[in-house]
This record gives sequence, C-alpha cells and structure tokens, in this order.
Amino acid sequence: LYYKEFAIMEKNELIKLNEEAKKQYDELCKQGLKLDMSRGKPSPAQLDLSLDMLTHCLDGDYMSETGVDCRNYGVLDGIEEAKRLCMPMLGVAHDEIIIGGNSSLQLMYDTMARAMLLGVLGGDKPWGKNEKVKFLCPAPGYDRHFAICQSLGIEMITVPYTPDGPDMDVVEKLVSEDELIKGIWCVPMYSNPEGITCSDETVKRFANLSPKAKDFRIFWDNAYCVHHLTDTPDTLLNLLEEAKKTGKQNMVFMFASTSKISFPGGGLAFIGASAENIKFIKSQMTFQTIGYDKLNQLRHARFFKDFDGIKEHMKKHRAIIEPKFKIVLDMLDKEIAPTGFGSWHKPNGGYFISFNGLDGTAKRTVELCKQAGVVLTGAGATYPYGKDPHDNNIRIAPTYPTEAELAKAMEVFCVAVKIAATESLLK
Ligand code: PMP
Repeated sequence: LYYKEFAIMEKNELIKLNEEAKKQYDELCKQGLKLDMSRGKPSPAQLDLSLDMLTHCLDGDYMSETGVDCRNYGVLDGIEEAKRLCMPMLGVAHDEIIIGGNSSLQLMYDTMARAMLLGVLGGDKPWGKNEKVKFLCPAPGYDRHFAICQSLGIEMITVPYTPDGPDMDVVEKLVSEDELIKGIWCVPMYSNPEGITCSDETVKRFANLSPKAKDFRIFWDNAYCVHHLTDTPDTLLNLLEEAKKTGKQNMVFMFASTSKISFPGGGLAFIGASAENIKFIKSQMTFQTIGYDKLNQLRHARFFKDFDGIKEHMKKHRAIIEPKFKIVLDMLDKEIAPTGFGSWHKPNGGYFISFNGLDGTAKRTVELCKQAGVVLTGAGATYPYGKDPHDNNIRIAPTYPTEAELAKAMEVFCVAVKIAATESLLK
C-alpha cells in the first residue's frame, strides 16, 4: 500500500504547474485520441486464449460424462463435469452449487428479484412486501450492484471500506438494528474497484452476523477469485465454511463466473450456497428455466479440464495484463506521487486501480479526459446513486487498451488530474 499525503505547495508553484499542465493538455487534445478505459473488459489478446474452446472441444461428442445429451433440455443445476470445474472456485460441494447461464450479474439480479417477489428460505414473506427494503453497499464498489438495487427500488446505505474489507463495526451495528436491511453486497477478493481482499477476521465477522432480519442475505460476489497478479496472491477464507461453524450458513449467497477467464457474456456463471438454500432456489428457479446452456458447460469442462487448468490459464491472462497495470502504476508514481494530488494502491489482483484524487476533483478530471478523447468510468459510478460524497474516486480499468494506447491514455489522465487539482487548490 502506498498512500501519499497531499503536498503543500506555494501559490506561485501551483500556478506554474497549472499552466504547464494546460499546455500539455492542449497538445494532447490536438492528437484526436479515441481511447476507452471505462469498463473492465478483457482485451482481444485475452479472448484469443480461449479460442480452442470454440473450435475443438465438442467435435461431434455432445454427451456429458454421465450420459446427458447436452444438446437437449434438462439438468437445472448443471452437468457434473461443469460443477466439478466451478466448485473449487467458490469452495463448495456438489449439492451447494447451481451452474447458471452466462452472467453472474444476471444470477445476482434474478436472485434479488426472486427474493423481492417470492422471498428467501426462512423468510415469512417476500422482501418486497415490506414497506421498504434496504441494502448495505460497501463503497466504492461495483456500479452494477448498486444499479440492481436502484432498479428494484431497494434503498441503499453506503458502508465505508477499510484495508480489511467493508467496515464491519458499521455493518454489525446497522444489521442488528434494522429489520428492513435485508442484505449486503460484498466483492470479497480484489474488490471492484479498490482491489481489497477481506481479511480472515472480516470473513469471520460476516459469518457471525446477527441481523435483525431473519431473511437477511450476504451477496458474496467472488468475481475475481482466481485473478491474481502476483506470485504471492491474497488469500480469502471460505465464507460458507465459516458460516457453517456459526450455524448461519443459510445467510450466504456466493457468486462467480468465468467471464474474465473465458468469454464475457459467453462463460459460465454459478451460485454457491448451503444445500438447503440451493434446494430452495432450485424450487423457485424451475419456473424460470428448464435448464441452462449445457453445451457451453461441456465446452468449458473439456477445455479447462479441472481447477488446475483454470489456474494455468489465469497465468496466461496475468502475462498479458500485468504489464498494463505496471504502466498505470508507473505513470501515477512518476507524475502524480510527487505532487500529492492523489492516492492509490497496487492491487494484487482483479481488474482495476482505484484512484482517489483531491476532494471535489473527480468529475472535473473525468470531464477533461473525455474532452481529450479518453473515456473513463463516470465519476461517482462507484457509489450508490452515482453520488461520491467526496467527488474524488475514479476507477481505472487498464485491461482493454493496448499498452501503447494505455500509456497515451495515462498521459492524458495525469495531466487532467494536475489541472483539476491545481484549479481546485487555486479557487
Ligand atoms: N461482479 C463484479 C464485481 C464485476 O466486476 C463484474 C464484471 N465487471 C461482474 C460481476 C459481471 O460478471 P458477469 O460477466 O459474470 O455478469
């Protein structure tokens, strides 16, 4: 972790820096750039890594190992070999997983929508039958989690982050007091966008929550569970196992997908939970679908073979994206660290670098980048209702552009940060 204190500069120094930055900015604007660092998408080179899955994995043999014809209807929770492939990613057993469609976001949306309409196991009524439903949203966080809540009319309560994960003092207090708080989002490993992994203590405190709502659920979105960027990766305790120790295993819904392993929008998404929860979810889900895409499940199982196959594959992703993270971090170190105009940390994995500028500068920075042809995630997007209370957080997504594009985009970004910061300090 490296956080820099905001440097104190003389006014004339600030004016000089502002003028220099503006001059550089004008030059960059003339280059007619068109670069996109807005979403965490794999680059085409990363997608190429899984191409064989599309060409060789089925080869006329559509039978699963237990003799299921994967071309036909059936098997709501997924074929055996796909389950075996995905189980270790969440650390769950055979009867604790459902292999869904091609998007974990969709699984999360559906899970939330079913809870609102029909209720969850152990609840005495659907969440939506309450006068109000509230959700805890650790922030900065994943904008699409917040968008799900907003679209379903669920009131979001922002919870701050600590270097160990969501602030559990706040979480414990809020859930114990308010029966209308029905759940919490958490990206437990290499969080989007901060890159923070929950400490063992945080996971244990999650597992031992005592919510006032008996139908409370933790939405544990482990999207980046195998997305390491170092030889000494972070480790994460298994929430479901911890919750079994406290007898609160039904409080846990876990999600992941192979979107950033194989193909986004063409991967496998899955939900893990207690066997009891899974049985209950299946009883609701059976009205939604007869079964998901088993041909895709078979392709994934044959292509990766097993969890070791996934781990090996992730090393190839790392080889492509690690240098991109380095470009961003080196530029921030060189250009911004000496000014004290922002702080960030080097994530051990995941897809993002979270930049915290001076208060009140994020919107202006994003706007300046946009005018120069560099699209970033909208300022504020990492907070519920798109409202960053300090207007200082910007999510940088380095994976999609080429290294040359990224270097150029970061040049624009650093100049924009300098302009926004000096403007704000000179006000
Ligand atoms: N969860 C998190 C935390 C993500 O960052 C993303 C992708 N940006 C997703 C879920 C989306 O996953 P999927 O493609 O499986 O819907």
